[in-house]
Amino acid sequence: MGVMACCRRGCDGIMCHDYSVETGYVCYECKAELEDTNPTCVQDVKDFMDTEKENNRYQDEDGFSLSKMFGEEV
Ligand SMILES: [Zn+2]
Repeated sequence: MGVMACCRRGCDGIMCHDYSVETGYVCYECKAELEDTNPTCVQDVKDFMDTEKENNRYQDEDGFSLSKMFGEEV
Protein backbone atom coordinates (compact mmCIF):
# COMPACT_ATOMS: atom_id res chain seq x y z
CA MET A 1 0.00 0.00 0.00
CA GLY A 2 1.49 3.31 -1.06
CA VAL A 3 1.13 6.78 0.34
CA MET A 4 -2.19 8.21 -0.69
CA ALA A 5 -1.06 11.76 -1.26
CA CYS A 6 -3.56 14.50 -1.91
CA CYS A 7 -3.58 15.52 -5.56
CA ARG A 8 -4.52 19.14 -4.97
CA ARG A 9 -1.93 21.67 -6.03
CA GLY A 10 0.27 22.77 -3.14
CA CYS A 11 -1.24 20.32 -0.68
CA ASP A 12 0.98 17.88 1.16
CA GLY A 13 -1.83 15.94 2.77
CA ILE A 14 -1.32 12.19 2.84
CA MET A 15 -3.32 9.16 3.91
CA CYS A 16 -6.32 10.38 1.94
CA HIS A 17 -9.46 8.32 2.02
CA ASP A 18 -11.29 9.91 -0.85
CA TYR A 19 -10.35 8.92 -4.35
CA SER A 20 -11.77 9.74 -7.75
CA VAL A 21 -10.50 8.62 -11.12
CA GLU A 22 -11.03 12.22 -12.26
CA THR A 23 -8.93 13.92 -9.61
CA GLY A 24 -6.94 11.29 -7.76
CA TYR A 25 -6.78 11.38 -3.98
CA VAL A 26 -8.10 14.30 -2.00
CA CYS A 27 -7.46 14.79 1.70
CA TYR A 28 -10.03 15.58 4.35
CA GLU A 29 -9.16 19.28 4.48
CA CYS A 30 -9.38 19.78 0.76
CA LYS A 31 -12.58 17.82 0.52
CA ALA A 32 -14.16 20.04 3.17
CA GLU A 33 -13.04 23.10 1.22
CA LEU A 34 -14.28 21.58 -1.98
CA GLU A 35 -17.68 20.99 -0.46
CA ASP A 36 -17.83 24.68 0.45
CA THR A 37 -17.43 25.61 -3.21
CA ASN A 38 -20.55 23.63 -4.13
CA PRO A 39 -19.23 22.20 -7.37
CA THR A 40 -21.90 21.42 -9.95
CA CYS A 41 -19.89 19.34 -12.38
CA VAL A 42 -16.70 17.32 -12.70
CA GLN A 43 -14.93 20.28 -14.29
CA ASP A 44 -15.64 22.40 -11.19
CA VAL A 45 -13.90 19.77 -9.09
CA LYS A 46 -10.96 19.62 -11.47
CA ASP A 47 -10.65 23.40 -11.39
CA PHE A 48 -10.66 23.30 -7.60
CA MET A 49 -7.89 20.71 -7.52
CA ASP A 50 -5.85 23.08 -9.65
CA THR A 51 -6.14 25.96 -7.21
CA GLU A 52 -3.33 26.50 -4.75
CA LYS A 53 -3.99 25.36 -1.23
CA GLU A 54 -3.58 28.11 1.34
CA ASN A 55 -0.86 26.64 3.45
CA ASN A 56 -1.35 28.43 6.72
CA ARG A 57 -1.93 25.54 9.03
CA TYR A 58 1.67 25.51 10.26
CA GLN A 59 1.26 29.05 11.49
CA ASP A 60 0.26 29.40 15.11
CA GLU A 61 -0.45 32.41 17.31
CA ASP A 62 3.23 32.97 18.05
CA GLY A 63 3.89 33.56 14.39
CA PHE A 64 5.82 30.39 13.84
CA SER A 65 5.77 29.17 10.30
CA LEU A 66 7.73 26.64 8.33
CA SER A 67 8.26 29.25 5.65
CA LYS A 68 10.08 31.50 8.13
CA MET A 69 11.99 28.59 9.58
CA PHE A 70 13.38 27.68 6.20
CA GLY A 71 14.12 31.25 5.23
CA GLU A 72 11.34 31.94 2.77
CA GLU A 73 9.90 35.42 2.71
CA VAL A 74 6.30 35.50 3.87
ZN1 LIG B 1 -5.35 18.20 0.26
